[in-house]
Amino acid sequence: MTETASTLPSNFIRTIIAQDLKDNKNEGRVATRFPPEPNGYLHIGHAKSICLNFGIAAENKQGTCNLRFDDTNPIKEDVEYVESIQEDVRWLGFHWNDRLFYASDYFEQLYQYAVQLIKAGKAYVCSLSADEIRESRGTLTEPGTNSPYRDRSVEENLDLFQRMRTGEFKDGAHVLRAKIDMAAPNLIMRDPTLYRIRKIPHHRTEKDWCIYPMYDFAHCLSDSIEGITHSLCTLEFENNRQLYDWILDELKADCHPQQIEFARLNLTNTVLSKRKLVELVEGGYVSGWNDPRMPTISGLRRRGYTPESIRNFCERIGVARRDSIVDMALLEYSVREDLNIRAPRSMGVLRPLKVVIDNYPEGQVEELDALNNPGNPTMGTRKVPFSRVLYIEQDDFMEDPPKKFFRLAPGREVRLRYAYYITCVKAVKDEKTGRVVELHCTYDPKTLGGSSPDGRKVKATLHWVSAAHAIRAEARLYDHLFLKENPDDDKDVDFKTHLNPNSLETLSSFVEPSLADATPGSRYQFERLGYFCVDPLESSDKSLVFNRTVTLRDTWAKIQKKQQKKQ
Ligand code: ATP
Ligand code: MG
Repeated sequence: MTETASTLPSNFIRTIIAQDLKDNKNEGRVATRFPPEPNGYLHIGHAKSICLNFGIAAENKQGTCNLRFDDTNPIKEDVEYVESIQEDVRWLGFHWNDRLFYASDYFEQLYQYAVQLIKAGKAYVCSLSADEIRESRGTLTEPGTNSPYRDRSVEENLDLFQRMRTGEFKDGAHVLRAKIDMAAPNLIMRDPTLYRIRKIPHHRTEKDWCIYPMYDFAHCLSDSIEGITHSLCTLEFENNRQLYDWILDELKADCHPQQIEFARLNLTNTVLSKRKLVELVEGGYVSGWNDPRMPTISGLRRRGYTPESIRNFCERIGVARRDSIVDMALLEYSVREDLNIRAPRSMGVLRPLKVVIDNYPEGQVEELDALNNPGNPTMGTRKVPFSRVLYIEQDDFMEDPPKKFFRLAPGREVRLRYAYYITCVKAVKDEKTGRVVELHCTYDPKTLGGSSPDGRKVKATLHWVSAAHAIRAEARLYDHLFLKENPDDDKDVDFKTHLNPNSLETLSSFVEPSLADATPGSRYQFERLGYFCVDPLESSDKSLVFNRTVTLRDTWAKIQKKQQKKQ
């Protein structure tokens, strides 16, 4: 990552920052932060924000990016999430160095800021219930009504707020509210709640606090305390910007970061909301946060995605101000492109069909040379054993093939990759089911290496493994987690009704013997089948498990062509 701001394609945030630098706005500093709430694992949408924030810091000479846990709501937060978030950011290739912060470390400071607001007559303790507060807020067309507690004296407010802190009141008895304007056109400005009572221990501060600051109060002040220059957040916070600025202005904060909103990432056939992802995990709809079907960073990692492919994807989708939905095919394209360069080729047979080469000497084994990456000779070659009994893919044979099927059929000749031409002479069937269970073929010894000296052409090349040498492996094939392109947009039905019942297919397969030492997490292209990754968690010396990352079919190219036609 040696790119600099001037060599990268522009986006509106890069443009703002370049202008600020030109104006010497923050003495040449560019300070961003990535502020996750530790209430779930990170997903691909967070990756967009991580790439943006850490990327901007890396692109600028005096750039820094903090990792800050926005841990102000103890109900759903947990250290498991704190740890997984750090692991995922690191894995994506970003470093916060010594810039790891927790909003909870600022609790005392935030409390003092609240006291300062009370003293300035800009905040008050309100004793309405949550429902009453909601009801008195008004609507877009009607102003709200003032709380009967709005005119409490500074002394009374200070006393009540102090007693809220010491635990005298039960949850919900009082809140601290900003005193702004109950008729403000922006509903967020109608005396928003700044603090609430929550008698719940916090994963870091334990029982030190029983009042917790609201996001809007904690966030701008945390940014300010850390000297952030550009506070990048997603569009749903656009209306909150006014409050962000109000709080910092009223407190005359030394550092007043600029909040800039950008569109969140939405992806087809999945959901990117932690609340919904938690639901899938807790309901057992997936095997965990790192289920390879999940759009989480840990799921993608386990599926075989590389950090480079995710970073390239994030650069490719760009940063805009308008919400949109990105096709999953683009994410798949990004990993395919990256693995095409780095993944060694290999042969595996997902659904094996036995093939006996009748005229091949029994007991003979030839070690044939195979390229590890035809596009990159420096990746070298390997030996693949060939013998009399092989496995090929079931769907590479048809007894009664339609016109356009060029693979194996009775009497038909095809090429075996890196080996010989073979001709099918007979298909053996299971008497009961009628299914083809074994093929008998002959090979032409003069075709070693895949061509015939007499110029005879064949129309298909099949992958194969030698039955005596192949290793059994479990192959896990994945499809979209949701059948519906946007499982979120139907408000009347639960998003889970759109789950794809066939998103996981588990097969008992065979792979070539060179994969005996494949290390967990390593990635291969199985010729003609796709990219696969050795499952980092469940694969072992005794039982190999491969996750299919993606197939080789470039659906993205197809989608682009279709879009071009439309224009
Ligand atoms: P979720 O809706 O998944 O719960 P969140 O915004 O509540 O997301 P946070 O932990 O607060 O989750 O997110 C940390 C940062 O990541 C925030 O700055 C947020 O704006 C950003 N972020 C979250 N989801 C996306 C997304 N889909 N696209 C881009 N940025 C995102
Ligand atoms: Mg959030």
